[in-house]
Amino acid sequence: MSEARVLLSPPDVGALEEQNVLRALRSGWVAPTGPEVTAFEDEMATRVGVGQAVALSSGTAALHLAMIGVGVQPGDVVLVSSMTFAASANAVVYTGARPCFVDSLRDGNIDPGLLDEAIRDQRGQGNRVAAVIAVDLLGRVADYDAVTKVCEEHDVPLLEDAAEALGATYHGRPAGRFGRAAVLSFNGNKVMTTSGGGMLLTDDEDLAGRARFLSTQAREPTVHYEHREIGYNYRLSNILAALGRAQLARLDEMVRRRREIRSTYAALAASLPGVTVFQAPDDDEDNCWLTALMIDRDEASVDAAGLMAGLDAHDIEARPLWKPMHAQPVFAEAPAYVTGVADDLFARGVALPSGSKHEALVIDRVCHAVHEILGGAS
Ligand SMILES: *Cc1c(COP(=O)(O)O)cnc(C)c1O
Repeated sequence: MSEARVLLSPPDVGALEEQNVLRALRSGWVAPTGPEVTAFEDEMATRVGVGQAVALSSGTAALHLAMIGVGVQPGDVVLVSSMTFAASANAVVYTGARPCFVDSLRDGNIDPGLLDEAIRDQRGQGNRVAAVIAVDLLGRVADYDAVTKVCEEHDVPLLEDAAEALGATYHGRPAGRFGRAAVLSFNGNKVMTTSGGGMLLTDDEDLAGRARFLSTQAREPTVHYEHREIGYNYRLSNILAALGRAQLARLDEMVRRRREIRSTYAALAASLPGVTVFQAPDDDEDNCWLTALMIDRDEASVDAAGLMAGLDAHDIEARPLWKPMHAQPVFAEAPAYVTGVADDLFARGVALPSGSKHEALVIDRVCHAVHEILGGAS
């Protein structure tokens, strides 16, 4: 009998999640409103240390409403980290604004010096720079001391895309607490999941209130459903919020497991020439959502593509880091400030199975396969 394919980051759910979902179902609150939604928002706000949390149907929806909340208008420019998942840039397009991409530092997060240059250059061309979206790549929080300084100097609202980073910190401050607002994702592959879902976090009560209003079809508080503007159907279901509460209670345990997996891969990489673990030397504050190997083609026996093909033959899922947005066909016309760092990370990085659900035996199987493919001494 062949073993099941090893996935990158499968959902990690069990008895507590089952109990919570059943409780929500039996309570009769089977709608995108109810006590589980409110409790989930309160618990997350407390956990991250923000005043307001709005539970939504996805991280992408949260990004969309966050941008509306800081006043992004059609025709504006929004500067976005190029090294990210497409959702960060897609949400910009939903507002009618134009995304403009900024390259990364070696840790994969937005380059603050280049961001400064991009804001000046875009303004020089007569564009209104309405927001900056910084992404916390693979669960490592961006350098917000530097990024916040640049945004404040230019008086541009900063949004934190913390979709991958819940549970991580930066100088002791939790991911989700930076900028005017931050977004979380609870998609099935993230550190914690509600199957699909997201959250907007902010200390700004007006922004949170506006997001709540727009997420429920911009319904005025009248019995006859009066509407003065266009809204969205973006609220999170009460049943999924119950699932989220179980996951949040287990967050620390799940992050601990992901960190253990990173340590295992770091020990493996140390035995292989030309192989390092991405972000590993100073990752104490990362949530280790995904662990990636960086392959140096001059020293290693195969390149990143060869490693991925070899793992696929072992029925192990592996992927490059995100393909940078400036290299995506759909954004070919978008302006971009590129140094080549993101392109290099894309060419050399291979993300390995990192889910907290994976037991030691499964991670051992991955390590053996990597060792065999990269031909380390055995
Ligand atoms: C997953 C992700 C999103 C989108 O979240 P969804 O909940 O899937 O809509 C946005 N940004 C980044 C960086 C992500 O990884």
